[in-house]
Amino acid sequence: MGYSREVYQKAAARLGERRRQSVDRNLAQIEQVRAQVPGAAALLDQLAQTSAKISRAVLSHGTDLAAVIDKIRRENEETQARLRSLLASRGLREDLLEPQYFCPLCQDEGWVEDRQCSCIKRLAAECALEELASPEELQRSTFSAFRLDYYPDRPDASGRIPRAGMERILRRCMEYSRSFSPKSPSLLMLGATGLGKSHLSLAIAQNVVKSGFGAVYRSCQQLVRQLEQARFSPGQQPGEEAVFSALAGCDLMIIDDLGSEFANSFSGAALYNLINTRLVEGRPTIVSTNLTVAQIQQQYSDRLLSRLSTYEILYFLGEDIRMKISTEPQSPSL
Ligand SMILES: [Zn+2]
Repeated sequence: MGYSREVYQKAAARLGERRRQSVDRNLAQIEQVRAQVPGAAALLDQLAQTSAKISRAVLSHGTDLAAVIDKIRRENEETQARLRSLLASRGLREDLLEPQYFCPLCQDEGWVEDRQCSCIKRLAAECALEELASPEELQRSTFSAFRLDYYPDRPDASGRIPRAGMERILRRCMEYSRSFSPKSPSLLMLGATGLGKSHLSLAIAQNVVKSGFGAVYRSCQQLVRQLEQARFSPGQQPGEEAVFSALAGCDLMIIDDLGSEFANSFSGAALYNLINTRLVEGRPTIVSTNLTVAQIQQQYSDRLLSRLSTYEILYFLGEDIRMKISTEPQSPSL
């Protein structure tokens, strides 16, 4: 499916803005040359006449149209050559009056022949990342910013070594994002607060987006609020159906911190509906939660738990790393 329509519309608008900027720059340059380089105005006026001359030739229905147009074209080239040497004689760049495109490959059109140019793909990825989370969140939630040294390397009460467990999880998340496809398995991230679940799920999401897939990242609270607004604010655009299908149909949906939402009968049913629809349609979802399996069962329905039990489970271990980050002197801003 790739990025949403909104992302492509935003990218196309940015491309249009680039085109407008390069036209404006070009016109400003021409006006400057016209005003400051003696002799340039007359040559520019001659060039500006070219298309009018061609139109007149076509409309006059003359006998040898091809020869007339060829002559106009030659005159045009000569005028351009004179203009270039005039600029050069003043120590100016010969191509000063050519439009300067952001992307010379597609001249800011977004297409090279019938293929999308790499510049529009980059712009779309940029817009898709902006939709995902704030620049600060994205910057601090990368795989390379994940600090394994915050996790104890001695066995915890259960005999497991948190750092070794987290190293396996980090590797799995990196591998998951590298090999992501819209048919990848779903992941359930379990573990106490502050063990890096949001960090790693957002790191996966940004890599997936950079690879050209569409991903939506929401805290469970934001997600329920969005679904509630769509349901209970009639007339609001986009409507309930469009909101639901964008969430149910994206390549990767991330629901962060299940259990943090204000729970009511609507939220339980809405979350089940979304999670179940994605599962039935074979689309991957990543759910993270501080709740234990028993708490999930208690707070939600058995049927929600039965859907989540089909996910690949990652158990996060350790102590709250956010405490360590906030108390560590001169820590990098994570
Ligand atoms: Zn381009």
